[in-house]
Amino acid sequence: MSNQNAPTIQSSALFGALCAAALALLVIDVAGLAGASLDHRPILLLLGLFVPGVLGAVGGIMAGAALRALGREWIGRPKPLRRATGLAAFLLLGAMLAPFFASEPPVGGSRDPGKPRIVLLGIDGATWERIDPLIAKGELPNIARLVREGARGVLESELPAFSPIVWTTIASGRAPAVHGVSGATETAKSVGCARIWEVLRDHGYSTGTFGYLITWPPRADDVGFTVPGWTAHGPESEPDPYGFVNRLRFTASHSSLPSPVELARIYCDWARAGGRFSTIARALGRVRAAGVWWPDEIDRFHLSREALLDVKVDSFTRLARERPTDFTAFYIDTVDNESHLYWRWLEPEKFEGVDAAKTARYREVIPNSYRHADEAVGRALEAIGPYDLLLVVSDHGFEAGNRNQFTIDVENLLAVIGLEPDASEGYVTIYPRVYIKPATPELGEVIAERVLRITEETSDLPLFIARVVESGDVEIGVDAARFAERMKAGRSSEREMARSNALFDGEAAPLSRLVDLTSRAFSGAHNLDGIVVAHGPLVRSGAEIPRSSIYDVTPTMLFGAGLPVAEDMPGKPLTGLFTEEFLASHPITSVPTYEVEGARPGGEEEKEMPEALKEHLRSLGYIS
Ligand SMILES: [Zn+2]
Repeated sequence: MSNQNAPTIQSSALFGALCAAALALLVIDVAGLAGASLDHRPILLLLGLFVPGVLGAVGGIMAGAALRALGREWIGRPKPLRRATGLAAFLLLGAMLAPFFASEPPVGGSRDPGKPRIVLLGIDGATWERIDPLIAKGELPNIARLVREGARGVLESELPAFSPIVWTTIASGRAPAVHGVSGATETAKSVGCARIWEVLRDHGYSTGTFGYLITWPPRADDVGFTVPGWTAHGPESEPDPYGFVNRLRFTASHSSLPSPVELARIYCDWARAGGRFSTIARALGRVRAAGVWWPDEIDRFHLSREALLDVKVDSFTRLARERPTDFTAFYIDTVDNESHLYWRWLEPEKFEGVDAAKTARYREVIPNSYRHADEAVGRALEAIGPYDLLLVVSDHGFEAGNRNQFTIDVENLLAVIGLEPDASEGYVTIYPRVYIKPATPELGEVIAERVLRITEETSDLPLFIARVVESGDVEIGVDAARFAERMKAGRSSEREMARSNALFDGEAAPLSRLVDLTSRAFSGAHNLDGIVVAHGPLVRSGAEIPRSSIYDVTPTMLFGAGLPVAEDMPGKPLTGLFTEEFLASHPITSVPTYEVEGARPGGEEEKEMPEALKEHLRSLGYIS
């Protein structure tokens, strides 16, 4: 038999796909599904062609292989086969493109040309320590331009420097004790004070936030848009199709493959909400550059996050163009996420036993996250258009974590100091420290005092440092220097740990119950030095912003908007960054508060953390 006529795996697959897809299309037509609403048609088309297509391809491969094994010639001559394959490809392409021609999201929102335009761009975890060397090399063109034409400074964060808490402080100008956000589980309903977009809304501004933390659920009466960030409990967004961003994230954070229905739905929404083919091409390009076709967990982490950033920028730029708003916020989390995981390969000299091959492989992941964030800033600003005041801020900085990895086991720690688990309402690990939220303020003092009394059996020295921080949380860490000493002395193995004892009131407990040495790859740690860049016609070019605080961001935006600052906000407007002209015509005025009595009842907090959110926090090392 001639090899030319033997079915190849590819031709069998394509032929099988054609048959299955064509059959499915027929079924859809016959079933009269064309009468379904326009919103759902592309999904049905996609499902009708794509899913049976894949199944058909698998079936085709198996049938082709079976036929080949039997040594028979396949159905007829190659020419009709080629035609059939061409038709199959055409139909499938049509189905893939269909969502792009579905109805566009409605145009809404409004810009009041008389109102100053304020933009807040958040780059979680960005630090000058990484930005400046890249700018010096001629990179990060967008941030470099903003710095050159505008003003820059260090934005000081506070403990616990956990992103959902700090971003809420930034947007409200109020302390955690007032806004009430103490972790990642709070929702927009439970935030106890107004945030900048709510204050501006009350003054007739249209507002849009994209990716900002603790903004779920969105308000239905939003003039503008709300696409909640990674703390969202569900996919709801305003306007609706943009909820696919969080559906995609929920899907991506599970290690199992999503269902074809879910994939098709995400795909259709994405296509309708600003999706670009170039984003797929770039994601594939990154996979190729990484040199892996089936990425392992370490590769998947940065590849998926970078791809998701492109998806978000596509959607944000579409929204910003279609719904221009007086206040706009956009939030980028890739720099933080990747800094957590890849730092050991950025500064391998600060860690022990770092694999040289991995260093060569992952050294550029963090710099690349900055390059990509810079590009996202450029695209976002282009879509937003002219503004009066832009602030680019980060919620904290980053640095190499302790050389050795350990976490504190809170449940066991409480047990050892004679407290019940309910003495704590929860905790968050911000490596290398842990922050316990005590059930009552008195318990906070008790926990800190007792933890300080835990000693090492062999040396009789205290094992932990502990104190109550401003938010009322108990901050606990280990004496890092002494711990590093232990590890250097080769006493770091699990077995060695199990043999060492901690003493509390004469009672011994294995140290390994309290401190968990872990092989996890988290190596970057938050520090308190975030960034602030100001830019726009209101900003004095070249101004150096003196060391300022996360509490100053909202007062500065209020001042830029020409509104009074509030006396119940501890921060102050960063007047040093404004032009003489603006300062001369805008004396600082104040009001007692922006809170409206009874406007924010607090509502029922949804404390239950959705699985996808847990997965995300786990991937960053916050919970284990
Ligand atoms: Zn972080």
